[in-house]
Amino acid sequence: MTSEKILGIDLGTTNSAFAVMERNEPEIIVNGEGDRTTPSVVAFTEDGERLVGNPAKNQAVQNPDRTIASIKRYMGDDDYTVTVDDTEYTPQQISAMILQKIKRDAEEYLGDDVDKAVITVPAYFNDRQRQATKDAGEIAGFDVKRIINEPTAASMAYGLDDDSEQTVLVLDLGGGTFDVSILDLGGGIYEVVATNGDNDLGGDDWDHAIIDWLADGFESQHGVDLLEDRQALQRLKDAAEEAKIELSSRKETTINLPFITATDSGPVHLEESLSRAKFESLTSDLIGRTVDPTEQALADAGYTADEIDEVILVGGSTRMPQVQAQVEELVSRDPRKNVNPDEAVALGAAIQGGVLAGDVDDIVLLDVTPLSLGIEVKGGLFERLIDRNTTIPTEESKVFTTAAAGQTSVQVRVFQGEREIAAENELLGEFMLSGIPPAPAGTPQIEVSFNIDENGIVNVSAEEESSGTAEEITIEGGAGLSEDEIERMQQEAEEHAEEDEQRRQLIEARNAAESAVQRAETLLEENDELIDDDLASDIDAAVEDVESVLEDEDATADELEAATQDLSEALQEIGKQAYQQQAAQAGAEGMGADPGAAGAAGDSEYVDADFEDVDDATDE
Ligand code: AMP
Repeated sequence: MTSEKILGIDLGTTNSAFAVMERNEPEIIVNGEGDRTTPSVVAFTEDGERLVGNPAKNQAVQNPDRTIASIKRYMGDDDYTVTVDDTEYTPQQISAMILQKIKRDAEEYLGDDVDKAVITVPAYFNDRQRQATKDAGEIAGFDVKRIINEPTAASMAYGLDDDSEQTVLVLDLGGGTFDVSILDLGGGIYEVVATNGDNDLGGDDWDHAIIDWLADGFESQHGVDLLEDRQALQRLKDAAEEAKIELSSRKETTINLPFITATDSGPVHLEESLSRAKFESLTSDLIGRTVDPTEQALADAGYTADEIDEVILVGGSTRMPQVQAQVEELVSRDPRKNVNPDEAVALGAAIQGGVLAGDVDDIVLLDVTPLSLGIEVKGGLFERLIDRNTTIPTEESKVFTTAAAGQTSVQVRVFQGEREIAAENELLGEFMLSGIPPAPAGTPQIEVSFNIDENGIVNVSAEEESSGTAEEITIEGGAGLSEDEIERMQQEAEEHAEEDEQRRQLIEARNAAESAVQRAETLLEENDELIDDDLASDIDAAVEDVESVLEDEDATADELEAATQDLSEALQEIGKQAYQQQAAQAGAEGMGADPGAAGAAGDSEYVDADFEDVDDATDE
């Protein structure tokens, strides 16, 4: 028989944990080694055995080439593989090995098959990383019911969502990553309003500070560099982590490593005592690095520190008193401590599993997109359809048109990022919409729709209205973005904001000038009979002016706009003359004229159609 239970899995960078609803409460499942968390480490031994979890972690330093840790950092990166014994593994496959162990251990514990799972991901994971995580679950044999954000899961574990509205800061410091998220909770809804972090900061760095301090001291005393010796290094690493953990509850610890090495004068032992004060001074730069991301998340969410109602600490490293002190200093709130920080995310995932299985009611989940999504339009501009930090699931559509006369296809290029110029952002995917009936530029109405589902997976479709021709893509696979890259992209966008804005203005002015010329040509052709020669030659002159400004590569936005304005004014005259002519003709025939029909048709088309071209791909 298969259990109907849905397993909640926190697939962490350093450690994973899993839980399930038992008698209406989420419960952590103890793994095969009897531990409540499982190191996210996979190793291949020389004799072909595959190790996962603690057995893999324990031999990591001696067997570094065949041990894979922190694979989560590469999820969604299609170019990344790990090769062991001539076999290449994708990040999804390595993650699946961890998930397979979790599945086996859960089945053993529950005495039943477990096929369904909810898996958590960092809030900043993009759609590719989410899709890769889902794929990993499926490779491991799970039916992945939902991918949810880690801070959302943690908030659920704290049961923070009573009926009152509140703002929660979730600070997650694990073994290798630091994430800050700000959530608005209320009425059963969990909304992640901002995220930030440092992809390269975690408990391992605190361990390294101790390792370096021990190795330096040892070298100056005995002239031996322990970092060169793999066996010694593994022991140093284990001892450093142990000392660090001890210093979370004690003021002083001793590190004892007998026979750590041997010199000419015989075996040498390492014995040191380390006080919490010394440890904190060795790592003060590390704690300092938590400040900026926290402040940035607050700023992005639009909150001041005193608007935060609750602080939740997630990740084993938040047990360090210095981390708690730093948060209290920043937010002036005592962090909640009633849920184990290593377990909160898995417990929340189990609650979400319970919701999906119908065991828990009244909870809705809302997450946000970490970066804006949009497409490339004329002149290489990035046109946003979905803004960064928009709550998902979400849908947005916009109508675009063609840039060239007779254009029968457009290339839809989907980007993610904050820069005004599409190429500066991350290309997620592209497709060609063909079969557009030939028409003057700016006439076809092409609706582009973005849909992000509850797992954060993006679907983009385009449909041409008159013919119904349509095309779509679901964005999956390809190179994903790490948190670092997201951070870098956001930073670059800020740094280049002013310059990008100028580029945008210039491109828009060029686009407007080009379309005014096209419009002039169409209107002159269509109203040939209705306007007099003077006006026609005025317009020709204005067109020439615009064209000569367009030819000048150094023309400024102001120059382009001035020439375009002159041309537009001349074009308005067409409407007037055409109307008078039509009215005169209609009067003669005894019919009522539609005021301004000829001119208005041309004008409104360009105003309403949001004159933006999907791309300049022409196919004539
Ligand atoms: P996580 O990835 O959330 O399981 O966090 C793992 C990290 O938390 C590792 O670097 C552990 O050494 C660290 N950690 C676990 N317990 C403690 C503790 N009591 N004090 C300090 N660090 C801890």
